[in-house]
Amino acid sequence: MENNEKIVLQKIDEMQDEIVKFHQQIVQIPSENPPSKYKEVAKFTENKMKELGLKTQIKRNNVIGELNISQGKTLIFNGHYDTVEAFKNWTKDPFGGEIIDGKIYGRGASDDKSSVTAEIFATKALLNAKINLNGTLILTAVGDEETGGLRGAEYLLSEGLVKGDACLLGDASPDYPFGYTGGTMYITFTIKGKQAHGLGFPDLPAPYRNEHSGINTIERMVKIMNFLLELKKEFLKKESKYPLSDSRRSSVSSVNLAEIHGGNKITTVPDKCYLHCSINTIPEQDIESVKKRILDFVEDFKRQDPDLDISVQIPISMEPFTIDDKTDFAKAVKKATMGVFKEERDFKLMMPSCDAHWFQERNIETIIIGSSRADNNVHSSDEFVYIEDLINTTKLFALTALNYLK
Ligand SMILES: [Zn+2]
Repeated sequence: MENNEKIVLQKIDEMQDEIVKFHQQIVQIPSENPPSKYKEVAKFTENKMKELGLKTQIKRNNVIGELNISQGKTLIFNGHYDTVEAFKNWTKDPFGGEIIDGKIYGRGASDDKSSVTAEIFATKALLNAKINLNGTLILTAVGDEETGGLRGAEYLLSEGLVKGDACLLGDASPDYPFGYTGGTMYITFTIKGKQAHGLGFPDLPAPYRNEHSGINTIERMVKIMNFLLELKKEFLKKESKYPLSDSRRSSVSSVNLAEIHGGNKITTVPDKCYLHCSINTIPEQDIESVKKRILDFVEDFKRQDPDLDISVQIPISMEPFTIDDKTDFAKAVKKATMGVFKEERDFKLMMPSCDAHWFQERNIETIIIGSSRADNNVHSSDEFVYIEDLINTTKLFALTALNYLK
């Protein structure tokens, strides 16, 4: 191991108590999404970045810290501080930041405040080590990831507030870097029909229908759902060739019928029905073709059923991404895994979506790391992070910057 790497790792080990304390504090500040009240957590994060001497700004509660060292490449660190709601059934205080057996408990302790803490202390370690880096390091701590990222990472990038050559994004499981991501699509179907008495005027097909017959939206939505379930069945047959990590086992595309609303009374023909559906694809399957198949099906359905009044919204649609593992950035990350784990770890496939797509779409080379293990109760009760994972993630951020901003 190079001397500089040793110094940086040692600095992080020496700071362990400080890292843990900061992490407890950030977990103690609620930043649930919804209701998306981020002011306090953003200010807290910015203050710490300021303390390190970074040039900071807060835009729509997203925090940016910049360390401009010299001309050269720009590396972005990213983590999200918004969390899902605390929900019920906790045996610990979701905003306590309690430490038990080497774990820190609280909502967001793992997903994804651990990455916010890690990126900040990685930067602190580099500064304390007084190593000459070249280029620019940008830290971003964002909200809104849990609901798609449009007001978080996407906003910062689309407004040109953050630009860079590469991004190390913290929002995954530990042990491996993730260089292959699947595609994602959120799709909402809205069917409008006609309310009528459910008994007296059933939803008769033409030519038996009359002006008193309803138009049943739920029956029509069932056809959409059946089509989506057929798609899901078909997806099961095609496995991805990209390597999986132990905690991210799925290797097929998936269709999730997530939320449905419709109807208002048992004796009435329902005049409205909504369906929200999320689709994740493996890197071998592009989102555009899935989208086309669904829209073609809807068009066909419309032709067969003149009473069908349907609209389709696709608020989020992101193509898969695979990294070239020969680039300087990919090599810098791999070398960092060597420094932390004493062996080089290969890139793995990550299926669930995160903010990575927003960076990848803009040709910013993006690799994902993180501290969220399968047993961390992420999005469930009693979420926690292992202190060891938090420290290792900090080390991966630091060594990647050290290797890349040479
Ligand atoms: Zn996350």
